[in-house]
Amino acid sequence: MRVIVDTEKCCGAGQCVLVAPKVFDQRDDGIVVLLDAAPASELHAAVREAACVCPGAAIRLDEQA
Ligand code: SF4
Repeated sequence: MRVIVDTEKCCGAGQCVLVAPKVFDQRDDGIVVLLDAAPASELHAAVREAACVCPGAAIRLDEQA
């Protein structure tokens, strides 16, 4: 899995950080920071949930990568 974030779409809600803190962090202004673009398989479920709950649809997943 490869994770791509679009900081232009991110509205700084922080849902992704709550759901998958090993993969997402936030800058001081709230915008998402991608910590791990190729997360280990045990994190995939949390990353999918983060993408689902992101209010800005700022998290894209490439499941084939
Ligand atoms: S959940 Fe989406 S909008 Fe909120 S901080 Fe994460 S990427 Fe940004």
